[in-house]
Amino acid sequence: MRSTDGIFVKYGAPNRIFGDSAISVEEIADQARAAGLEFIPTVIRHIGTENCKLILNNMRKVLDGKAEIRTRSQVQSLLEEDGAIRGVKLAGGEVIKSDFVVVAPGRVGANWMKGEADALGLTTMTSPVDIGVRVELPATILKRITDVTYEPKLIFYSKTFDDKVRTFCMNPYGEVVIEESEGITTVNGHSYARRKSDNSNFAILVSSTFTEPFRDPIAYGRYIARLANLLGGGAIIQRLGDLLAGRRSTRERIDHCVTRPTLLKATPGDLSFVFPYRHLQSIIEMLQALDRLAPGVFSRHTLLYGVEVKFYSNRIEVSPEMETRVKNLFAIGDGAGITRGLLQAAASGVMAAKAISACITGIRPGK
Ligand SMILES: Cc1cc2nc3c(=O)[nH]c(=O)nc-3n(C[C@H](O)[C@H](O)[C@H](O)COP(=O)(O)OP(=O)(O)OC[C@H]3O[C@@H](n4cnc5c(N)ncnc54)[C@H](O)[C@@H]3O)c2cc1C
Repeated sequence: MRSTDGIFVKYGAPNRIFGDSAISVEEIADQARAAGLEFIPTVIRHIGTENCKLILNNMRKVLDGKAEIRTRSQVQSLLEEDGAIRGVKLAGGEVIKSDFVVVAPGRVGANWMKGEADALGLTTMTSPVDIGVRVELPATILKRITDVTYEPKLIFYSKTFDDKVRTFCMNPYGEVVIEESEGITTVNGHSYARRKSDNSNFAILVSSTFTEPFRDPIAYGRYIARLANLLGGGAIIQRLGDLLAGRRSTRERIDHCVTRPTLLKATPGDLSFVFPYRHLQSIIEMLQALDRLAPGVFSRHTLLYGVEVKFYSNRIEVSPEMETRVKNLFAIGDGAGITRGLLQAAASGVMAAKAISACITGIRPGK
C-alpha cells in the first residue's frame, strides 16, 4: 500500500497526509469510545477530484507509445480453454487473444463479474451488502474531527439489531453527487482539493449478510435502490427532522432548512418508505451516537439522501498474487470483491502486474 501510494505521489498526488498526529487521533478515539463508537485510525492522503484527472493524464503520458489503450470497449466475456485464459471477447464480437488477462471491472461491473465468475466456475464468497444514506451537514459540526483525520472511520453496532453500521467516504467541504449504474440512481459524495462547499457529507452504511437460501447481495441492494428511484424518480432527500416526525420532506421544507443541500437533483420525499425498519432504525441510532461525538449531527436540519448502496462483488477466490483458479486470469479491485477503495484497488493491480512480469521473465513459472 505504501509503495503504491508513492506511485500516486510521483504522478502528482498532494504531499499532505491526515491522521498521522498520534496525540489528536488518540483523543478522538477516546471520545468515540465514550460515545459507543469504535474509531479505526487511518492515515489518509486526500487527492481531490480535480487532481485525479491530472494524475491519470500523467500516467497515461508515460504509457503513450508503449501500450494501446482502448476506452468504450465493453468486454462481453472472458475466454477460457483447458483451465487457462485465452483472451476476451468484446461486445461487438471482436476477440482479443492474450496469454494473460487482468479483470478489473469496478463496482459498476460487479454484476457482470458475478456472471463471468459463475460461467468459469470460480469459487466466490458472498460479501455483505452495504445499504444506507448520505448525510450532509454544516462542515463546522465535524471540523474538529475532519481537520485531524480528514475521513474518520467509525463503527457502531446498532442497539436494536446489533447490526454493523459504519461511516464511509467522508467529504469535508464536499458535495453530494448522483451515481448512475446500470439504470439505477444512487448517491455518493466527493470533494475537491481547492473548491470548497460549506458542508461536509458522509455515508452511513448498514451491513447485511445473506446465507441460505438467498445469496445475492447485489440483487438485494439493487432492489432497495430501485424502490427509491420508483418513489422519487431518482435520489430522495429528506430532513432528519421530517423523518423523525413521520412526514415527507417537501421542496418548501428543504428551502427552510439551515443546511443548504449541495445536490439539487434529489427529490424531497420520505425515506421511511424505502428502507426496511432494520436499516432505518440502525441509521437513526448511529446518528444519535455520532451526535455524542460531534454535537449537531442529530439536528433536524441534517440532510439525508437515499439511497447509498455499495455493490461489492462476490469476493472471488484468488492467490496472494491475485490469480484466479483459471491460469493467468487475474482479478483485482472493487469488481472482484477484493478491495473497497482507490489505493487498495491500485495496490492489487500492482501485485498482479508483478506476478505477470515474473511469469514473462521466467522468474516465476506459470501454474
Ligand atoms: C463518487 C465516488 C467517490 C469516491 N471516493 C473515494 C475516495 O475518496 N477514496 C477512495 O479510496 N475511493 C473512493 N471511491 C471508490 C474508488 O473510486 C474505487 O474504489 C476505485 O475506483 C476502484 O478501482 P477499480 O479499478 O477496481 O474500479 P473502477 O475504478 O470502477 O474501474 C473499473 C472500470 O471498468 C469498467 N468496466 C466495467 N465492466 C466492464 C466491461 N465488461 N468491459 C469493459 N470495461 C468495464 C468500468 O466502466 C470502469 O471504468 C469513490 C467512488 C465514487 C463513485
